[in-house]
Amino acid sequence: VTLPASVPILLDIDGVFHVSWEPIPGGAEAVARMRAAGHRLRFVTNQTIRPRAEIAAALRGMGLELEDEEVQTTPRAAAHVLAGKRVLALAMPSTVSELEGLELVEEGADAVLFGGCDEDPAATREVFAYERLNRAFAELDRGAGLYCMHKERWWQTAAGPLLDSGAFVAGLEYAARVEATVVGKPSGPYFQAALAALGAEAGETFMVGDDLEADIVGGAACGLRTVFLRTGKFRPSDLERSPVEPGAVLDSIADVPEWIEACVSAST
Ligand SMILES: [Mg+2]
Repeated sequence: VTLPASVPILLDIDGVFHVSWEPIPGGAEAVARMRAAGHRLRFVTNQTIRPRAEIAAALRGMGLELEDEEVQTTPRAAAHVLAGKRVLALAMPSTVSELEGLELVEEGADAVLFGGCDEDPAATREVFAYERLNRAFAELDRGAGLYCMHKERWWQTAAGPLLDSGAFVAGLEYAARVEATVVGKPSGPYFQAALAALGAEAGETFMVGDDLEADIVGGAACGLRTVFLRTGKFRPSDLERSPVEPGAVLDSIADVPEWIEACVSAST
């Protein structure tokens, strides 16, 4: 595929622009440079702790230039996928407010929806208490479908790696003998929605992220050009166990604009 002078770029947020909301150097400059080159950007995150407007505001606070509408979040994707359904949600209260159009119920659910864990153990303890997990099991056992915003095993924080809700989702899959539908990355529909929002073709679109499974393997499965960053949850062993070869492996977001310019000039 020949690349146009300006290309669509999907950017992961957590581990790319920040870790525990501490900025990773060069992010704001990289966004400014990609915008100056005319590239179309969309910020695609599996983060399920803050609502979209808060994520966008926090990024602007780090000096990034972006609109709320450019941020694609998994709670909103879940609201789209489950529209009109009765849903038992195990998710942080701040993202439950994003589940517009769903009827939230405790019993008689059509679907059980899992969000991600919070860095605050007290918040996580409340949402994923045994009683909550057991309520979810009861609904699944009587036939509700299992959905999750993502199925991540862990994520990188300033304090180190933290267990994420993928562990609970896998536990419920095991107990109820069901398979979860993942709404966020690496699911195909999530990437397709991002491409549609940019009016983009997969083959000319770059996916930039720090998560091997969600960003790189998921992006490659959708035909995107992948850029794997050595920040956030990146581990050198990812490169050995990866089933796909990333298009590039770069030190950080600061190196992305130059790489994309090189790809564009090599292609024309
Ligand atoms: Mg990430």
